[in-house]
Amino acid sequence: MLAVQGVSRSFGGVYAVRDVTLDVADGEVCAVIGPNGAGKSTLFNLITGHLAAERGAISFLGRRVDRLAPHRRARLGMSIVFQAARVFRGMTVRENVMVGLHGSTSAGFVAAALRLPRHRRDEREIAARADAALERVGLADWADRPADRLPIGQQRALQLARALCARPRLLLLDEPASGLRGQERERLAELVEELRADGLTILLVEHDVAFVTRLADRIVVLDLGRVIADGPPAEVRNDPLVLAAYLGQ
Ligand code: ADP
Ligand code: MG
Repeated sequence: MLAVQGVSRSFGGVYAVRDVTLDVADGEVCAVIGPNGAGKSTLFNLITGHLAAERGAISFLGRRVDRLAPHRRARLGMSIVFQAARVFRGMTVRENVMVGLHGSTSAGFVAAALRLPRHRRDEREIAARADAALERVGLADWADRPADRLPIGQQRALQLARALCARPRLLLLDEPASGLRGQERERLAELVEELRADGLTILLVEHDVAFVTRLADRIVVLDLGRVIADGPPAEVRNDPLVLAAYLGQ
């Protein structure tokens, strides 16, 4: 599904991501772990096109995408939930999900801006898609409430709903569990498992090794912008390089 080959990106002469090669198979849950500053978020932004790679190639569903703008990669089927993504205040939960959808339906953005008759039909279509996504993440009952009043766990579910509206094949989640505790964390893990059962391919950044071991088919470890381990959780957890770099042992 995704092939990242020898991709690099630096900031001010210092590599954030250096010669990273990574394949993600259809239906796989692949976790990316590593210390703060290892390059995880930068790697995600290179994959989605929010940052340009200086070297290397990225293919998605058999197609070179590394020169494509983010919205074009999104249209091919990738969605990202950014690290520390916020909900829009002063909007309901449903409106928060609908924000990402304007311009993505048949009538499009121009019709919406000009308030053409097609626009109203479009609004209904968008609201219906938003509601389906909210249902999927268990937020149907919250649709009309102000988004900023949601507990943090539900705010994460809301961001997932927004990403799902684009009907992605590949979902990138950058630290979706950060700041979540106990039941919220458990609920998120279940949600990821359900999405995978729906056939989504998931690339996920997460610090909690136990959380990742449970969810991921594979763990890729980044350190100082490079891949230092890549394999099944049981293998990676015991890798001496990983223990040294990541677990500080
Ligand atoms: P992680 O997500 O693993 O914590 P990041 O990808 O955010 O790591 O950052 C990797 C390195 O790149 C860090 O040293 C960070 O300071 C640097 N970096 C990331 N984004 C930028 C940027 N936009 N400008 C300058 N430096 C950046
Ligand atoms: Mg990060």
